[in-house]
Amino acid sequence: MNQLALLGGARAVEELKTPAWPPLSSGAEADLVEIYNSRNWSFGGPHEKAFAAEFAAAHDAKFGVFMANGTVTLQCALGVYGIGAGDEVIVPALTWPATAMAVVYLGAMPVFVDVERDTLCMSPAAFEAAITPRTKAVIPVHLYASHADIDAIKAIAAQHNLVVIEDCAHGHGGKWNGKGVGSIGDVGSFSFQQSKTLAAGEGGICLTNDQQIAEKLYRMKHIGYGDGSKQGVVAAGPPEGLPVYNFRATEFQAAILRHQLRDMDALIGLYNRNAQRIAAQLEGTSIHVQSRGRCTTRQSYYALAFTFDQGALAEVPLQLIIEALHAEGFYSAGPTYGVVYRHILFNLPQSDYRIADGGCPVAENIGMGRTAVMLHIGLGADDDDIDGIARALVKLDANAAELLAHAQSKTELAGSTVE
Ligand SMILES: *Cc1c(COP(=O)(O)O)cnc(C)c1O
Repeated sequence: MNQLALLGGARAVEELKTPAWPPLSSGAEADLVEIYNSRNWSFGGPHEKAFAAEFAAAHDAKFGVFMANGTVTLQCALGVYGIGAGDEVIVPALTWPATAMAVVYLGAMPVFVDVERDTLCMSPAAFEAAITPRTKAVIPVHLYASHADIDAIKAIAAQHNLVVIEDCAHGHGGKWNGKGVGSIGDVGSFSFQQSKTLAAGEGGICLTNDQQIAEKLYRMKHIGYGDGSKQGVVAAGPPEGLPVYNFRATEFQAAILRHQLRDMDALIGLYNRNAQRIAAQLEGTSIHVQSRGRCTTRQSYYALAFTFDQGALAEVPLQLIIEALHAEGFYSAGPTYGVVYRHILFNLPQSDYRIADGGCPVAENIGMGRTAVMLHIGLGADDDDIDGIARALVKLDANAAELLAHAQSKTELAGSTVE
């Protein structure tokens, strides 16, 4: 195998062509102009209604409530069940901080639990061990290129009477045992932020099969108004104590998303094909591609994760592995989010959250220090580029010992300058 480009060899990929993101759908521009001219820009328009129904149906849920982003969807999903001060909500340590912050916004306490090595999603055993009399809900996250074991988590939650909120910010189009993710727990929460698999700049949606919950979610995002009521004309107010906000999204976002939804199956199909194409070429190497969900029938993708915890690569600092991949021309590789309670943006005092007893060693070691991700957008590349990415990884694996020696010589050098 050729020498690593980082150590002077030729690059594995000459010019990686990442598709432009977000996609511009044909027909969307005309809809946006029409909405503009209609002056009907805010809530309750035909696109919002249609998109909420279409997105819910695509995920096998009965109801969808469209909102401003994928953080307030989590907040409303918890708030609708009355979760607040004094309550604990169990979340995985490895996720975007929003999963935990939504809990904090309601005055409740997030409790971080460990993830599984293969899927990088919440460990059902760690979840069960962290339950206390104060626990009211659990938020499994379908992270990157996997799905949390929602059956196991639901079964444990049922024994303890806990609400299950699926964080599907990475889960668009995913199927578990043939059922859409987001329709399996009590409420499913999705984000349509610019980087997500369906992207409208900003946006989010809650899915549920419970009509009463759907009606309350609608009131929560629309300062108490029910679905269909005209602003200023209210037949009945919101239930007493239900927290209500302005978390509305606009008709423009809904129109953009309706177009993307029509293309979603093809996009997810392409991502599945390309992820499998990379994984097949990594067979027999020491690099572990994130395992799909245990009962996944169609995997959703926000990113594809590669874990380097075997052989010589297990000794190389992740930052150097990423540098080596960039040198090969695989520019889109980067670190994971890391564990939430060590994230640079996470500034809660220790009294406002709890880490499960025994800590989160898998998330700390695998998630933070040993795993790199490539955003889903890279999975939309053509066959040549997909093979180029695989080639860069295979080359990294074949040169693991050389890279480790390079890492050790760098540390010795650093050590000698300190002396
Ligand atoms: C993006 C994301 C969110 C929050 O969504 P926003 O629309 O950015 O507020 C929540 N959870 C996870 C796992 C995410 O990746």
